[in-house]
Amino acid sequence: MIDREKIEQAVTLLLEGMGEDVTREGLKETPRRIARMYEEIFAGIGQTPEEYLGKTFSVEDGGMVLEKGIVFYSTCEHHLLPFYGKAHIAYIPDGKVVGLSKLARTVEVYARRPQLQERLTVQIADALMEYLQPKGVMVLVEAEHMCMTMRGIKKPGTQTVTVAARGSFAKDKSLQEEFWRMLERR
Ligand code: ZN
Repeated sequence: MIDREKIEQAVTLLLEGMGEDVTREGLKETPRRIARMYEEIFAGIGQTPEEYLGKTFSVEDGGMVLEKGIVFYSTCEHHLLPFYGKAHIAYIPDGKVVGLSKLARTVEVYARRPQLQERLTVQIADALMEYLQPKGVMVLVEAEHMCMTMRGIKKPGTQTVTVAARGSFAKDKSLQEEFWRMLERR
């Protein structure tokens, strides 16, 4: 659970540390606004995708399911700045599927917390393996990190790409190729 009061105090300290005048009009409400906003953007802390992946449907024939272009917003845990982009999720059911919107919900559970893109990718793949027990899962995440584009090398538009393959996708290169082919067909 988010402790709003603590966040408000911390933001006030942070602003003071920057040498700001925390009593000026534009900043007066900032600690409170940030505390409220954090409740939303960090709502995934301590949450599991149980609520979304816990209810499955049976299918007989399990061809590859690909949900592409799931837009997400997350926060880099090293700098507390946003990183955002798209997640693409493929799995091969072994008798069990979930509603497609539940995949997007699962991405949100893991995106709404201080996060690393690599871990986000792995957590999505492992959650699907755990709840759906599919033949295989492949997750690709492409994102832009504000901690890279706002400072340092300043290359806007640079995408970081991470991939996690589980089960048959990890073993079978031709399945991975099928995934790439389906992804490119926009
Ligand atoms: Zn960062």
